[in-house]
Amino acid sequence: MEETIQLADKYMFPTYKRVPITLVRGEGCRVWDESGKEYLDFVGGIAVCALGHSSPLVAHALAEQSRTLVHVSNLYYTKPQIELAKLLVENSFAGRAFFCNSGAEANEAAIKLARRYSKEKFGPGRYTIISMLNSFHGRTMGTLSATGQSKIQVGYEPFLEGFRFVPFNDTAALKGALDDSVCAVLMEPIQGEGGVVCPSPGYLKEVKTLCEERGLLLIFDEVQSGMGRTGRLFAHEHYGVTPHIMTLAKALGNGLPIGAMLAVEELSNVFGPGSHATTFGGTPLVTAVSAAVVKSLLQDGWLDNCREMGKYFLGRLKDLQRKHACIREVRGLGLIIGMEIDRPGAPAVDSCLAKGFIINCVQDNVLRFVPPLIVGKREIDLLVEALDGVLGVS
Ligand SMILES: *Cc1c(COP(=O)(O)O)cnc(C)c1O
Repeated sequence: MEETIQLADKYMFPTYKRVPITLVRGEGCRVWDESGKEYLDFVGGIAVCALGHSSPLVAHALAEQSRTLVHVSNLYYTKPQIELAKLLVENSFAGRAFFCNSGAEANEAAIKLARRYSKEKFGPGRYTIISMLNSFHGRTMGTLSATGQSKIQVGYEPFLEGFRFVPFNDTAALKGALDDSVCAVLMEPIQGEGGVVCPSPGYLKEVKTLCEERGLLLIFDEVQSGMGRTGRLFAHEHYGVTPHIMTLAKALGNGLPIGAMLAVEELSNVFGPGSHATTFGGTPLVTAVSAAVVKSLLQDGWLDNCREMGKYFLGRLKDLQRKHACIREVRGLGLIIGMEIDRPGAPAVDSCLAKGFIINCVQDNVLRFVPPLIVGKREIDLLVEALDGVLGVS
């Protein structure tokens, strides 16, 4: 274990503040490190491994497709890609799909689509995209420019022009930021990296109404909140509001790199041949796995499990809140849950790790739980018991 860490310190850019364990194997909600120690995983690759680690369904799709066709250029049609597009379109508001390799790339596609649409429809000068303070949209120069967190922007100036930020859950501020240069609003329906912040009642509807009144596109970044995380396929379904564009990634491939941008049919002709592309986007290998993942989410009862376990988990954490004064708030929807405490969360994360539980912390003091959607009561009980001990002494 030491050796792996030393080699990483020698050969890798130190871009991650890593937990000092080397994980070698996973199964369901469990992972094991090099020394054989077992952990219950409530991070799940940060909301990626929705069907758990080493899912037999994923392994099967991966093996089958790897023996059939791994990659050809997007200059040709392939069956798994079209099957996945059909699945996503038929189970959403959207009319069209574009595939890429990550959440950031999906948001890049959304930004490009919004600007191009607006230019075609209204002429030049209408390119500003409003996004939210404390948002997270990715690390490329474009998506970093759209991300409302200055701490991850340090040193990368100048940013892409045409982004403006307003506080989340503040319709008046949004209204005040609108002018003739604005073409779209880009937001996470539930902020993930921002600390698991849910929209206030009515907020998303108000945003959509503002967008409709002014011909703006509403872009939902569901990279973290989508693919069943909240107990519905997409988080916006809970709020009765559909966007014009939606971006997906994380759990879409259960660990294989894939991103998607979906949009309403009205936008289908804004991108034409040559207007946007990527070499690896939507390869047969990755889309075959993703199609299997989406079908399983829809057919195997995982959304029901997510809703039920989410409710149970939230309730158990609220019980803890009554017991521990250091817990300020417990919030979330389905299995994206945050627990805000009145002190830095890092020591609690470390203590949980020592007890065999993987959790993480966002915004310094929000413990975040985004376990596989297949998690059960037993695992939740074990974590809650561990947290009870950890918060009692810290
Ligand atoms: C993780 C995340 C991204 C970035 O995805 P990458 O695959 O890391 O590029 C974008 N938006 C949200 C909401 C995310 O949680």
